[in-house]
Amino acid sequence: MTVNVGVIGTGNIGQDHIRRLSGTLSGARVVAVTDIDAVRAESVTAALPGARAVPRAQELITAADVDAVVVTSWGPTHEEYVLASIAAGKPVFCEKPLATTADACLRIVDAEQAHGSRLVQIGFMRRYDPGYRAMREVVTRGGIGAPLVVHCAHRNPSVPESYTSDMAVTDTAIHELDTLRWLLDEDFSSAQVLKAKRTTRAAAHLADPQILLLETVSGVRIDIEVFVNCAYGYDIGCEVVGEFGVVRLSDPVDVAVRRAGGHTVAITQDWRDRFGRAFDVEMQEWVDSVAAGHLTGPSSWDGYAAAVTADALLEAARENRVAAVSMKDRPDFYA
Ligand code: NAP
Repeated sequence: MTVNVGVIGTGNIGQDHIRRLSGTLSGARVVAVTDIDAVRAESVTAALPGARAVPRAQELITAADVDAVVVTSWGPTHEEYVLASIAAGKPVFCEKPLATTADACLRIVDAEQAHGSRLVQIGFMRRYDPGYRAMREVVTRGGIGAPLVVHCAHRNPSVPESYTSDMAVTDTAIHELDTLRWLLDEDFSSAQVLKAKRTTRAAAHLADPQILLLETVSGVRIDIEVFVNCAYGYDIGCEVVGEFGVVRLSDPVDVAVRRAGGHTVAITQDWRDRFGRAFDVEMQEWVDSVAAGHLTGPSSWDGYAAAVTADALLEAARENRVAAVSMKDRPDFYA
């Protein structure tokens, strides 16, 4: 079976996913695209034989030849398009965030349960990264004993002037918030934010770096350094310290060069390079699960959990205190 996909939002990641679905992967083709910028949508279809540009997202979602929807428009539009896809009974892959508030995520969770089977997958692609998968395997089989402490770093070379201190949580560390819940297989109980000495490269309004502190329900302590003007590269670190061992995320495999008295390995410069393979695996597994009629990837409950944790971190930063992460009980539907 070939899954006919409609894509809403043809910006950066929308075009990446369109290329993936049309070239790199198997079992899918893009048949329709839409964007608030109709010219951009038209120009994308010019390189996509068999695909058409549709004026409105609602029209794309209900089109008879669209089997499944990919939402890659900007965050505030996600709730509307995910709910419309559920109403149409169509599987929908939504880039993070699932929605911009925890309440909006719960509306999606409720609609999906009312539908009766899973339709929503959220784009937390780190779960598909070979390094994180290998780490999880070690943790899950007890290879380092019970996890006690986790150290993470999320560094970007630079960010635009429009990037705010809150975005360090909602746009950047949101990936760690999901990955760590998945890696440790438990929820968080509290959150705190510490501001470090500010880099001279940050805009005047931006706290950078920041240290996010989380505690899990069982008491695992986590620190996440978010440093978005580190200058030297896109560098992702994660180390889990267990009862009798440590597991550390390795850098993507690359060649090492030894010359002129030095030994160097390149550092990736952006998220596309660092997680390109993870995006491919993520999207292929989504296509395969849609074809099989059984979604298995990160769910709308995972999107809700990330939103609740992000809200707690923002509250902690605003009020300069430790904030509780208060989640509703997980419905059996998402067990
Ligand atoms: P982008 O380049 O700004 O692309 C978003 C596109 O959606 C733009 O073409 C935008 O048009 C269009 N759009 C805005 N409102 C729309 C609407 N109501 N209906 C249809 N199209 C609309 O942003 P991006 O970097 O691709 O990010 C898109 C989403 O993916 C965001 O939620 C982002 O957080 C997520 N993302 C995830 C990852 C990841 O690591 N998983 C990486 C990058 C992005 P205009 O430009 O005219 O507004």
